Amino acid sequence: MFHSARLQLTAWYLLIIMIISGLFSVVIYTSFNAELTRIEHFQQDRQRRWERRLEDMPIPVPRRPEPIIDPREIEGARERLILTLLFINAGILLVSGGAGYFLAGRTLRPIQETLQEQRRFISDASHELRTPLTSLRTELEVSLRDTKLSLADAKKLLESNLEEVIHLQSLSDGLLSLARHQSTLQKSFTEISLVSCVEEALKKVSPLAQQKHIAIMQKVEPTEILGDKQALVELLIILLDNAIKYSPPKATVIMRGKKMAKWVVIEVRDSGIGIDKEDMPHIFDRFYRADKARTHSDSSGYGLGLSIAKKIVEDHGGTITAQSKKGSTFTVRLPL
Ligand code: ADP
Repeated sequence: MFHSARLQLTAWYLLIIMIISGLFSVVIYTSFNAELTRIEHFQQDRQRRWERRLEDMPIPVPRRPEPIIDPREIEGARERLILTLLFINAGILLVSGGAGYFLAGRTLRPIQETLQEQRRFISDASHELRTPLTSLRTELEVSLRDTKLSLADAKKLLESNLEEVIHLQSLSDGLLSLARHQSTLQKSFTEISLVSCVEEALKKVSPLAQQKHIAIMQKVEPTEILGDKQALVELLIILLDNAIKYSPPKATVIMRGKKMAKWVVIEVRDSGIGIDKEDMPHIFDRFYRADKARTHSDSSGYGLGLSIAKKIVEDHGGTITAQSKKGSTFTVRLPL
């Protein structure tokens, strides 16, 4: 599909260039030809004037005027000009054909990449959706066929189904959030207080922290930044939520925020399971979950959190990095 689109675009480029080049050739030929015609007329005039003088006074015979340029030369110049213009146009056609093909490829590449990315996203998302849906369906079908299903069994089944539904809901929430942050619509940035974002995020994650008896210590300097408050709160929730999820019970999570020259640096540190070296380059990829995290905790999500976090940080013109040394540390740098 892209090959034919590339050829079509090349053809359009060529058409435009050849129209311009053709017009230039016509202008050059017309003006050059006008010059030659003027010389021809001038020579014919002189010839006529000489013939008239010859009729008026045949003796002594006036000297016949020599033509400035041989008429055959003029005709030859015309032909040579046409030939040269044809050669130039053929050259332009060849060069612009090659350049047009190259440029068409470059023009279409971002569109092609976006399309491939979209296809990958759809196939990843449907793959993630298929597993819980299949297990849900199998459980329901088996139970429906079971004629001796007791009330206790039915309750157990419903509990398991509810768990799957909750997982599916969190997946669809994650997908929606990712889609929202991936849209290139103009973001509405306002001046917001970092402390208020932190407070809001802490309020959201505190039930989970309490459940695991995890203490969250925060030391964030009061700072005003330009950004989207809802998105920044979401970013902090993702980092805190991971820190809690991947920490053992009764651990401590530390959150710091510091102003540094033109940046504000936010750090979320935990003393949890840490991240393996080989997982490190992939943790910000969509749907990536380290095996260690997966087997360690049932509550690990779908590998969407950090890719959403990265998108939010990039939208704000910042950077996000991770380090793992006796736990994990995520560092976000946002421009002030
Ligand atoms: P998930 O929803 O699975 O946590 P994320 O995108 O948030 O997905 O994280 C991707 C992977 O990065 C996780 O599966 C986990 O392996 C790793 N990870 C993220 N945060 C931490 C952390 N604080 N400690 C250890 N591993 C982490």
